[in-house]
Amino acid sequence: MKIFKDKHTLQREILKTKGISFIPTMGGLHKGHISLIKESKKSKFKTLVSIFVNPKQFNKKSDFRSYPRNTKKDIKILKKLRINYLYIPTSKDIYGFKTKNKVFLDKSSKKLCGKFRKGHFEGVLNVVNRFLEIIKPKYIYLGKKDYQQLYLIKKHIEKNKIKSKIIECKTIRENSGIACSSRNSNLNKNQMKIASDIFNYFTILKKELKKNYNLFNINRIKKDLINLGANKIDYIENYNLKSFQKIKKPNKKFNLFFAYYIKNIRLIDNI
Ligand code: AMP
Repeated sequence: MKIFKDKHTLQREILKTKGISFIPTMGGLHKGHISLIKESKKSKFKTLVSIFVNPKQFNKKSDFRSYPRNTKKDIKILKKLRINYLYIPTSKDIYGFKTKNKVFLDKSSKKLCGKFRKGHFEGVLNVVNRFLEIIKPKYIYLGKKDYQQLYLIKKHIEKNKIKSKIIECKTIRENSGIACSSRNSNLNKNQMKIASDIFNYFTILKKELKKNYNLFNINRIKKDLINLGANKIDYIENYNLKSFQKIKKPNKKFNLFFAYYIKNIRLIDNI
């Protein structure tokens, strides 16, 4: 595994290859990231992972500061997975150049997480746009756990006619059911239990909603979540994955999207 901190040296290396399969991450690697990497290794291209905690996508400084970082451990994991390249850029390497493409922010960026984290998706697309220009990957591997992010990156790629193909990867979960997330490492045992109870609650709720959509009583659900130990709820909404629209008719296929806090730790998922 070759490690790069500078885009020019990385680009010289990439030029020698037939193409790149790219997995952008913010580090704090877990089973979710590992599954994306394993998918990428099935492709005929070289696997490149990036680790960059992007300051621009954090709407609160405190959240940026407390985001889990463990580069030493990440490097060990990546070496063991035998990836080809690891790119750990500085902020200057990423933000110190003018991009060719403008960021395209689809209107659905205003919904769900976009409503509660002002500037978050602008920050995500800004960094992804830059990575795409530096690396020009054949494939980019993205997790469905962050479905709104995936959808917005897809729209940006389509709008700018970028030649990278998105590979959508399924959500990997802990045994308790909760989605693997770097942020989980900030949860203590008791908070893990709360997250798992909330996951179970939503699993049962979704089954019930399929039978009787009238049970979708948002105030009642919020109350139940607070009783289970959530401290704040950002949203609970049902979206159709294809159209990425809130469902209007109960018989439509949907995923239940939710975001909530345990203390100051924000967790999101869709099931
Ligand atoms: P992050 O490091 O959180 O920015 O995530 C990097 C990539 O890993 C994104 O495409 C995420 O959607 C994906 N990812 C994060 N958690 C999971 C998970 N539990 N299952 C599958 N993909 C995930």
